[in-house]
Amino acid sequence: MNGSIIIPERFKLAGKRVLVIVDDDYCQHHEFFGEADFTEKVITLCDKYNGKRIKKAEKEKTFYHELTHMILDSMKRHRLKYNEDFVEEFAQRLYEFEKTKV
Ligand SMILES: [Zn+2]
Repeated sequence: MNGSIIIPERFKLAGKRVLVIVDDDYCQHHEFFGEADFTEKVITLCDKYNGKRIKKAEKEKTFYHELTHMILDSMKRHRLKYNEDFVEEFAQRLYEFEKTKV
């Protein structure tokens, strides 16, 4: 796979469907690159921010960050799911795994 990551359109966690959408206006309005909506089970990502294209690697890293939030939510680890340091470091490991696996 040469380290290429395909961001899915949807997947399941603990049997519940999670959607992945791209919404540049939403990201711009809320001033973030990504969001995990635990209630709606939607991960929002963006392709553009402040008129600039977001790099592929940045979008992928954001996806893994939001995915980690969602996994912890599905595990009912509600304290951990809001621990941004933990989420970010775990997501970095997931990203590294995806990038380096053969
Ligand atoms: Zn976060």
